[in-house]
Amino acid sequence: MSDFDLLVLGAGSGGVACARRAASYGAKVAIIEQAEIGGTCVHRGCIPKKFLLYASHFAHDFSDSRGYGWQVEDPVFNWPELITNKSNELRRLEGIYKKLLTDSGVRIFQGRGQFKTTNSVEVNSEILSADKILIATGGWPDMPNIDGIHLAINSNDVFDLPKKPDRIIIIGGGYIACELATIFNGLGSKVVQLYRSEMILRGFDDEVRNFIYEHMISDGLEIRLKENVVKLSKTTEGICVFTSTGDKIYADEVLFAIGRKPNTLDLDLKCLGIQTNEKGAINVNENSSSSVSNIYAIGDCTDKLNLTPVAIHEGRCLAETLFNSNPQLPDYRNVPTAIFTQPEIGVVGLTEQQARKEYNAIDIFKTSFRPLKHTLTGRETKVFMKLVVDRESDRVVGCHMVGDGSSEIIQLLGIALQAGATKKQFDKTMAVHPTTAEEFVTMY
Ligand code: NDP
Repeated sequence: MSDFDLLVLGAGSGGVACARRAASYGAKVAIIEQAEIGGTCVHRGCIPKKFLLYASHFAHDFSDSRGYGWQVEDPVFNWPELITNKSNELRRLEGIYKKLLTDSGVRIFQGRGQFKTTNSVEVNSEILSADKILIATGGWPDMPNIDGIHLAINSNDVFDLPKKPDRIIIIGGGYIACELATIFNGLGSKVVQLYRSEMILRGFDDEVRNFIYEHMISDGLEIRLKENVVKLSKTTEGICVFTSTGDKIYADEVLFAIGRKPNTLDLDLKCLGIQTNEKGAINVNENSSSSVSNIYAIGDCTDKLNLTPVAIHEGRCLAETLFNSNPQLPDYRNVPTAIFTQPEIGVVGLTEQQARKEYNAIDIFKTSFRPLKHTLTGRETKVFMKLVVDRESDRVVGCHMVGDGSSEIIQLLGIALQAGATKKQFDKTMAVHPTTAEEFVTMY
């Protein structure tokens, strides 16, 4: 008989969700984690990023408040204080995660787990056996193999810098690069973002990409398109970045945000017969099962949709299927997502470009306007909103927004799309006035 019904490798969002749900159905569960309980989202991703984002926002808020009659002396920002407060809060959250696990009856093993067989894992010299094993080891920032790369940092390091960089160069054009670029810009750093292709945020709606790009530029960011890093070197003027155009740029910190790779390389998966793709992502079927029938994988280590709520959903579906006789397959349709740039981007469903390929005919409804708040602040900022509609069924198949509050608004539009709402139903919905969101129900 095995020690456990389920052994989970990795106590990030997905692993914790699956472990707790499985334990709630009476399964004997253990979870192994080599770093902090809570994983990337809590410690090196979503949560610390959001704290930095809030901090960054105040810069706009202080200056905007003047248009509303406030007199604000030049505010002073204290980076170490923010970092200390952030770290204290993350420690508190880790405590909550641990308590949630132990209160659910899940045993926590802190250490590095190493497969011994397809039914056993060694941790801290102890062998644990289990009927089923879940790999939820997440991902890790990728770094290029170029000269001087040891001088650069990645998203794991950025939340604990001892000092706010006066000058920072950020490489990449995806979620992390764009979010951190606008955050540091708001905090007063001189930011240069380098992106290797034509336009940042590949895969998002083209109009959204152009809109946020223009916005970031007008907010003072320097974005260099079609430019990459060749090598780095240390100089008396700071870190020198040699770019693909032959230019040299100097900065206090150079941050690579060029994607994340699955955390699977040290697990000896091949020896167990677990198949992975060329990036090391574990191949799973629709039920999160790997090529070895009692071993499952969820979250970023499968490199599907690398988002916290997706990993949690996959973990809960798996626990329902395995331990509650309630088979559930993860549903990847209409996953809302937000990019916490300034202003934010919120997206659910198809881009215009995707919808044109998928449907015979589509209708596009869009608007761009200056939000009421900024008529008094004087800030030259605009909101962009767009609906993509399948003409035949009248169903709204894509919603896109750039502007303050996009992340909150898109969460609820996700419900509408999941319910299959039509454009007529959007139009029949009464507006809340005066809001930005009301434009989504008044676009004729
Ligand atoms: P992304 O995959 O989003 O973006 C990677 C970027 O790096 C792309 O612009 C890519 O360019 C570029 N790139 C890739 N390789 C190189 C290279 N060798 N040299 C230069 N540039 C390169 O990854 P991120 O690191 O930004 O984020 C990882 C994942 O984390 C995201 O995909 C997302 O799922 C998740 N995440 C979600 C957040 C949220 O929900 N708000 C926030 C942060 C992260 P190209 O387009 O040409 O391929």
